[in-house]
Amino acid sequence: MARFLLVLLLAAAPGWAAMRALIIDGQNNHKAWPQTTPMLQKYLEQTGLFTVDVATTPPAGADMSSFRPDFSKYQLVVSNYNGDPWPEQTQQAFVRFVRGGGGFVSVHAADNAFPEWKAYNQMIAVGGWGGRTEASGPYLRLRDARWTHDPTPGKGGSHGDRHEFVIDVRVPDHPITQGLPAHWMHTQDELYDRLRGPAQNVTVLASAYSDPAKRGTGENEPMLLVIEYAKGRVFHTTLGHDETAMSGVGFITTFQRGAEWAATGKVTQKVPADFPGPDKVSVR
Ligand code: ZN
Repeated sequence: MARFLLVLLLAAAPGWAAMRALIIDGQNNHKAWPQTTPMLQKYLEQTGLFTVDVATTPPAGADMSSFRPDFSKYQLVVSNYNGDPWPEQTQQAFVRFVRGGGGFVSVHAADNAFPEWKAYNQMIAVGGWGGRTEASGPYLRLRDARWTHDPTPGKGGSHGDRHEFVIDVRVPDHPITQGLPAHWMHTQDELYDRLRGPAQNVTVLASAYSDPAKRGTGENEPMLLVIEYAKGRVFHTTLGHDETAMSGVGFITTFQRGAEWAATGKVTQKVPADFPGPDKVSVR
């Protein structure tokens, strides 16, 4: 009842209108997508900023021509999708949406999608798997405190053993990261490494050390990125392999803040009291 009244009060407040968000799913090598999409939906709704629709594509191998969401109704699109190419018309509409100032959030394996789609790879800056190689673009490598392009030939995308790992904030004064601890412990997840792509107009907000003891690269790997794409804003989180990874307060908070920033360019949400510090995970 209290929540219902709150909604009524908010709806009655002058000038208040929820933004609209669209989550895309339907195919993913991560079989938990039917469980993780409702988590993403809940997190968006909990901000009080968004009403959320879900657009589910036909299954892998099926005719995709019916998949034509009307992106123009939304301020934000979130991808939990890694599968067959969308119809040409849908691809063009999505590019128009982001170019025109729409917000886009790419979650975990969404950066595995569409290795051949040039504009999509510009939006996510770097991606993995799907046959990505040096032809897809450079690696982003931290050298002398700067993110540099490393064109070394090799595959794009891998990860070591799943484990809890520390996220290091690299840009503390971005709206998404402002007020977060400089270092915080993320819930057990895959630590994506060796992502590569066009890597233009990208800022790495946070990274994680990929420990060779966990079969990692020995490099600081980009974890949270923002990309300017024409008038649009993209938040790319490599985190979120499964329900466990998405239960971490660090994942939840950065996803919620990244979504608001992608939609508006600002973040009005407070950092929650249960946000993790450097030593111990925090889960909900
Ligand atoms: Zn994964």
